[in-house]
Amino acid sequence: MPPDQPTQRDLFEHRPAWAEDDLRVGTIATVVLPDGVDKPLDYLVPEPLAATVEPGRRVRVPLGRANRLRLAYCVAVRSGELPQAPLKEVAGVEDETPLLSRRMLALAEWMADRWMARRGEVLEAVLPAGVRLRQKARVATLFVAGEGEPGRKLTPAQARVLAAAGKPATAERLAQAAGASRAVVTRLVKAGLLREAGTIVKPAGAVRRPIAHDRPETLSPAQAAALGAISGAMRAGRHETILLFGVTGSGKTEVYLQAVEETISFGRQAIVLVPEISLTPQTCDRFRSRFGTVAVLHSHLTPAERHGQWREIAAGRVNVVVGARSAIFAPTPRLGLVVIDEEHEGSFKQATAPRYHARDVAEWIARAENVPLVLGSATPALETFARCLSGEWRMCRLADRVGGSQLPAVITVDLRDRAARSRGAISPRLAAGIRWALDAGGQVMLLLNRRGFATHVQCQACGHSMRCPQCEIALTLHQPGNKGICHGCGLVTRLPADCPECRSPGLVHRGTGTQRLEEQVRKAFPDAAVARMDTDTMRSRGSHEKTLDAFRDRQIDILVGTQMIAKGLDFPSVMLVGVVNADAALHLADFRAAERTCQLVTQVSGRSGRGPQGGRVVVQTSTPDHPAIRAAAAHDYEAFVRSELPIREALLYPPFGNVIRLVVRGVDEERVAAWAGTLAERLRDAAAGAAGLRVLGPAPAPIARLRERFRYHLQVHGPDGPALRALVGRATTGLKTPDGLAWIVDVDPVEML
Ligand SMILES: [Zn+2]
Ligand SMILES: [Zn+2]
Repeated sequence: MPPDQPTQRDLFEHRPAWAEDDLRVGTIATVVLPDGVDKPLDYLVPEPLAATVEPGRRVRVPLGRANRLRLAYCVAVRSGELPQAPLKEVAGVEDETPLLSRRMLALAEWMADRWMARRGEVLEAVLPAGVRLRQKARVATLFVAGEGEPGRKLTPAQARVLAAAGKPATAERLAQAAGASRAVVTRLVKAGLLREAGTIVKPAGAVRRPIAHDRPETLSPAQAAALGAISGAMRAGRHETILLFGVTGSGKTEVYLQAVEETISFGRQAIVLVPEISLTPQTCDRFRSRFGTVAVLHSHLTPAERHGQWREIAAGRVNVVVGARSAIFAPTPRLGLVVIDEEHEGSFKQATAPRYHARDVAEWIARAENVPLVLGSATPALETFARCLSGEWRMCRLADRVGGSQLPAVITVDLRDRAARSRGAISPRLAAGIRWALDAGGQVMLLLNRRGFATHVQCQACGHSMRCPQCEIALTLHQPGNKGICHGCGLVTRLPADCPECRSPGLVHRGTGTQRLEEQVRKAFPDAAVARMDTDTMRSRGSHEKTLDAFRDRQIDILVGTQMIAKGLDFPSVMLVGVVNADAALHLADFRAAERTCQLVTQVSGRSGRGPQGGRVVVQTSTPDHPAIRAAAAHDYEAFVRSELPIREALLYPPFGNVIRLVVRGVDEERVAAWAGTLAERLRDAAAGAAGLRVLGPAPAPIARLRERFRYHLQVHGPDGPALRALVGRATTGLKTPDGLAWIVDVDPVEML
């Protein structure tokens, strides 16, 4: 047994038949380890530590036979009768103050259950790494000149540093002021010519800017009604979830801003979540220019920077927190409002353990704090829509663009028409649209939502796509053998030579990559400046912002990209948006494919015509009659919702059922498939006899191979979330995973690839 594994005694209480008078009382701390064993462990708190061991602080506890000291989170302390088997003692306390409030500890406990995650990994997710570091990350030493006599002649750089050190300053500041390197400062400290003069807390990184005057004089009636609903809940001190369902450009952000304003006027703090991709300087500037001090939490912060922000928020010195997913855990002592913009975005769900969804976490927190939760989207997730329809959440509609600008006209190009395909990926209609926009001095965005792996199978003549009869998911072509595979349930079929719908010969698999599209665009519009934005070209930090800045500065005429370009960006000069192949997203192996397509086409269309010249959208598709495409073209998302909800209901997909997905991966495909089969069998055994439970798969995942590892997945569907989790828990506890394989459980997955 490795020394840091828990012994039987760590895990279980032995109860030998001891005499009654052996009963003792004392203080017991329950701790959770960040990794390793997931079961909370009890330790005795020795008298000298009684005052400092409290929930939310970390403690050092002995573990295993070797009693190696481990850092653990204290989650509960109780006084009372001690168990008869002697408990090990807490060895020390790590933190001066609790890192986690009792509310956050309760949240972590709930999250662990809700997403079948380990308690330790939830606690680590709730606390940013920088906060877990010790003091050194957040404090800088101050130096001042004095005491020592220079033993030999100073170099000019050393002299400049000493001259600058009349007042205490950090080493960084001294080096900067003297135009010298940090090494010069270090040498002077060693020589005794600079002495320490205390410490300061490093600046938090919250930027103060002058307040700009972009606040509109009046709100539209719809905006005013939405704001009224939010402030009504706020004033009454009651929790309510309010969805702002508003078309792109309807002024949702202004409603958020004024709701935040009101929150601050009550002496409260607000958390505003946006998708990481929208966390552009543009968004942040809007909040900063209105409120001055804003903590912006994004994934590029260093641990120390993040910690600095955390401290400012916890101290109540920052009223507004803007950030991606994990900003929901910001330690606001006076929370008054939570806002989630673009709430339908998949990035609010964490892709690694713990696989929580920020929307659910936000609801838990807002409910616990009795404050309103505001969600905003032009294309709400169907889960959100359904909760509004049931009356559980309130929906406020913002149906018109503010300032009277019109939504762009959407032209659908039917790719079944041979002429439309005559010139590669860009149809003559789309080409004419691009020319129209360029000639009018406008800019163009071309969206190609293709992630460059699986290809779906579709008839060129009639647009019919081959789908799985069980899952309604598009089949994926697998060569050799011309087989169609369902990545939902694993069904394999031989593909027919001719289209089963119209008998035309030759089913084709679709797909043009962004790179090839960029080449075609350059060739067709040699006078235009073209840039491409996708995960291949945007690997380095800041390249995303750089490209968008260049586009904003009009250095780029045509921007070609994946869904990256669809999100929340406001470029008034964009006059044409082209969706090169709307079917690519529609036929992804995912039950949310139609919803995603409608959202994507709607969002990207919203980028067009924001300026006074108006704009157009061209959508190329082989299925122009698909409800997702029709609704997006008509700017009628609700029409899509009405057509899609019955399909979800019939197949018990969310929001009518719950899904848990298991993914197995490993280098040896046979063993991966075998283990996925074992898991499926155990789940089927556990589900036997229970009403409405269904196990799909195993099947190769749509991304069948990733980083040299094969991936198989399976899904469990059922009408009741807790029952489904209990089932998966029962079927998988105590399982020993074969060497070389890894598997994960994803509760309520949003990514099915
Ligand atoms: Zn056909
Ligand atoms: Zn299937």
